[in-house]
Amino acid sequence: MNERIGLGWDLHRLEEGCRLILGGVEIPFEKGLLGHSDADVLAHAVTDALLGACGLPDIGECFPDTDPTYEGADSLILLSRAAEMAEKKGYRPVNCDCVIVCQKPKLAPYKREMALRLSTALGITPEQINIKAKTAEGLGPEGESLAVSAQAVMLVTKS
Ligand code: MG
Repeated sequence: MNERIGLGWDLHRLEEGCRLILGGVEIPFEKGLLGHSDADVLAHAVTDALLGACGLPDIGECFPDTDPTYEGADSLILLSRAAEMAEKKGYRPVNCDCVIVCQKPKLAPYKREMALRLSTALGITPEQINIKAKTAEGLGPEGESLAVSAQAVMLVTKS
């Protein structure tokens, strides 16, 4: 079996006084995401999808939030570490498809830049990453702008 698939999901609280970083792109908004690292919920979902596809431990186990090393960490650096771990096991990403659930702000203008930054961290091309942004129709924590969540699936192949 040369191909495997992984699933990632994450959610972070939206709060005032925090930066909103999604896929490595800082987005101007009145609120941002709260977390131990830079709280990049999309990068975290992509990282878990990659780790899962390779049968590696999850992001919390690989980069524990109890470790001061990861305080305020750039999540794209964690993603590139995960890509190195995947490579050591002989896996490389084929494609990654993501959904961000965010009521506000509108994310369409930032999706290309997010794909570029995520793909750079993964050592692949932006065409191998697809990002979709959805609102939650005003419902639930994402809809009420209390949180942003992200999901990702990643296909990897063994060379
Ligand atoms: Mg997270």
